[in-house]
Amino acid sequence: MSHDARDGDEAVPHLSPDEFRKLGHKMVDWIADYWSRLDSFPVRSQVPPGSVAAKLPVHPPEEGLGGEPGWDAVFRDLEDVVLPGLTHWQSPSFFAYFPANASGPAVLGELLSAGLGVQGMLWSTSPAATEMETRVLDWLAELTALPASFLSTSATGGGVIQGTASEATLVAMVAARERVRGHGAPANSQWVAYSSTQAHSSVLKAAMLCGVARSASDTVHVRQIETDAHFALRPDALERAIREDLAAGRRPFFVCASVGTTSSGAIDPVRAVAAVLERTGVTASGGWLHVDAAWAGAALVCPEHRALLDGVELSDSFAFNPHKWLLTNFDCNAFYTRDKRALLDALSVTPEYLRNAASASGAVIDYRDWQVPLGRRFRALKLWFVLRHYGARGLRAHIRNHVRLAEHFESQVSGDARFEVAVPRSLALVCFRLEPLAGETPEATDARNRALLDTVNATGKLFLTHTVLPAVDGGPPRYVLRMAIGGTYTEARHVRAAWEALSAAAG
Ligand SMILES: *Cc1c(COP(=O)(O)O)cnc(C)c1O
Repeated sequence: MSHDARDGDEAVPHLSPDEFRKLGHKMVDWIADYWSRLDSFPVRSQVPPGSVAAKLPVHPPEEGLGGEPGWDAVFRDLEDVVLPGLTHWQSPSFFAYFPANASGPAVLGELLSAGLGVQGMLWSTSPAATEMETRVLDWLAELTALPASFLSTSATGGGVIQGTASEATLVAMVAARERVRGHGAPANSQWVAYSSTQAHSSVLKAAMLCGVARSASDTVHVRQIETDAHFALRPDALERAIREDLAAGRRPFFVCASVGTTSSGAIDPVRAVAAVLERTGVTASGGWLHVDAAWAGAALVCPEHRALLDGVELSDSFAFNPHKWLLTNFDCNAFYTRDKRALLDALSVTPEYLRNAASASGAVIDYRDWQVPLGRRFRALKLWFVLRHYGARGLRAHIRNHVRLAEHFESQVSGDARFEVAVPRSLALVCFRLEPLAGETPEATDARNRALLDTVNATGKLFLTHTVLPAVDGGPPRYVLRMAIGGTYTEARHVRAAWEALSAAAG
């Protein structure tokens, strides 16, 4: 591109289309090479705090790179500055937290979305972005066997891509409050939200953001209900809490059921929770049941796992993260509701500069009314590519391979006298630990397990994280290791090697 400096315009050194093409090819090559050498890096970053920053100039450059050849320096820095400071989430031996799948089709969709650079805040600002999102979310609802009331083709339901499960919970909570207000609850009600003790911290954060919780330690307005021996919410305890709150004049308005808790993959009984809301009159007064299946939701592509969602048709909203275990790179949360009116009531504001005929006609969806921000990327592209590339069959194979590997890992743990499975496997998550030695204190058992975790993680060959499971039946809380299998490229040999490393380190 030529840059004329006529009329006082200063030259801006954009990449020409040809330079972009060259660099783009080089970057895609770099990513493909990165993926093929993932096995060669220590999984968890080994650098001390400040070491990455120390390699970066303190001040921004005055002069730019001056075109495509100058980018050689950038590629060098990727190797020298960036790679050492990464924890390799895409490593096939990454078993920490939950997976954060990236995949070829998804990354191509992300690149395309960036290249198109459209803002899909309103239907009219790019009809394809909205209509593609609606259709792809209906596809995903069909693939996960969600009830028809969550589809865009139903009277009041539909799906939308949120950034994260945390945002999904927040929008569900504000919709809930709006609906309960619509049922006559005064604005200054003592709102109460409920989840289990094992629910994700985003429930509390959502309550703080919308002013329901006064602080992170406000246990009056955010009640964490005790769980059973498998760490699932106890409906009887929920019912007791709700009745107490009603008797005290407070306003139960929102319950989050977790299908697959972050700590141990526990599954709250959605149908029984819905029955509690019905029995206590919470449903009749507009109360809302949200189902957070951030990780486990991906498994619903397999018919054999759909019992997890028993009762979901009684919930008001459901969300899961294709960006965890469904091959779609971060960020992509699939949020469904059967009451979009409540969402719109809570989130629509239309300043003059956004008014347009299509919106006014009511014939189109404006997704900015379904989320916190105004602007939105064309994220449906990456989901579209993933669903088209893998097909339902490929997605099921992805999930089934990992569940099978987790079954095998669980049987190895339970077949080794030094170890125990701490709670029955949930899908592809195994929580386990070194068994207490005779006469050993709980603190000493925990310490040996912490040491085991540190030892295997320090090898760089794999990366696991831990959790603490609450006390059950009068026993102490237990420090346990979590083996979360679900990487895009994780195969049997990686899980086998992980077990060998653990077994060797256990002594
Ligand atoms: C991971 C997780 C979340 C948070 O997900 P984000 O998309 O990062 O907000 C919420 N709930 C559960 C059960 C999770 O496992």
